Amino acid sequence: MASSPAEECPICREEMLLPYTTPCGHAFCYLCLKAALTRTGSTATGINIPTCPMCRAPRSENIITVKAPDNANIPKRNIWWAYKCRGSDEWWCYEPQHSEYIEKTYQDFQTSRTEDPIDTSSSVGPDPDKTIILIQIMGKYYRLDIIKMEQTFIGTPVPVRGGNLFGLTSQPGTAPREIKRLTSASLEKIKGIAGMITTQNLFL
Ligand SMILES: [Zn+2]
Ligand SMILES: [Zn+2]
Repeated sequence: MASSPAEECPICREEMLLPYTTPCGHAFCYLCLKAALTRTGSTATGINIPTCPMCRAPRSENIITVKAPDNANIPKRNIWWAYKCRGSDEWWCYEPQHSEYIEKTYQDFQTSRTEDPIDTSSSVGPDPDKTIILIQIMGKYYRLDIIKMEQTFIGTPVPVRGGNLFGLTSQPGTAPREIKRLTSASLEKIKGIAGMITTQNLFL
């Protein structure tokens, strides 16, 4: 089944972004599918295996990174926020919504700093409420610091027995990743968006 850019994603019900078609013929936003496979593939209970959200066909393909298909509908932006690949000098852009959310936080902080300059003689740093962002990527929580410009892994939510609450497993020792604000003038090499590899120009 071929998908067109105007087609709706069955997971988020929005116009499909970065469409990806599974071998069983179902199309989703790449990031929606990746998140769904991660959820159903949770081994927390030991009974789940990754399945297609539409037909429940077991999925074994690795889609952590994929090459952008021809119909990928790659979005363009003036600004992208990106995180550095491990072991190379390339950068992954955050998915567009995350990228926009980080940019808004960054702009709000810049505005507040102009209105109320930081007293450099004070030992009190910038307000963490304005400079620390929590985001969820494929079911995992990350902390972004737009002053230190780094992303730190916090943990994966796991169900707590006997309730609707979720605890967090953490993997201590995961090194923070460098993050960056990229514009069309940036010289950094961009690998793609959140795992989807593309050589297209991502800037407006
Ligand atoms: Zn979607
Ligand atoms: Zn399917």
